[in-house]
Amino acid sequence: MSHFIIELSEQEIKREKDKARELRRSRWWQNRLAKGVCHWCGGTFPAVELTMDHIVPITRGGKSSRGNVVPACKECNSRKKYLLPMEWEEYITGARRKAEGGRDGDA
Ligand SMILES: [Zn+2]
Repeated sequence: MSHFIIELSEQEIKREKDKARELRRSRWWQNRLAKGVCHWCGGTFPAVELTMDHIVPITRGGKSSRGNVVPACKECNSRKKYLLPMEWEEYITGARRKAEGGRDGDA
C-alpha cells in the first residue's frame, strides 16, 4: 500500500541508458572490470564476462551513476532479472558463502 511506482518517460529511460553507455567507456569502469570481481556473488571472472548492472534498475528510477552500477557476472545478472527479491537474497547469500570457500555456520 505504501509502495509507489515511479513513472518514467521513455526519454528519461533513454537518457539513463546513454549515460550507462558513457560510463562503460570510462576508465573508472574499466578499472572495476579489471578487478574481475562480481559485486553480487563475490566470484572472480575475466573482465569480458562481467556486465554492468544497475543496483536500482533504471525503470525503477535508478540512475546510471557510479553509486548505482556494479560489475555482475552473467549468471547473477540474468538471475537478478528473473528471481523475486526474496529468492535473489537467498541466491546471493548462498553464492557468497561459496565464494568464501564453503565456510558456513557463522551466519
Ligand atoms: Zn556473480
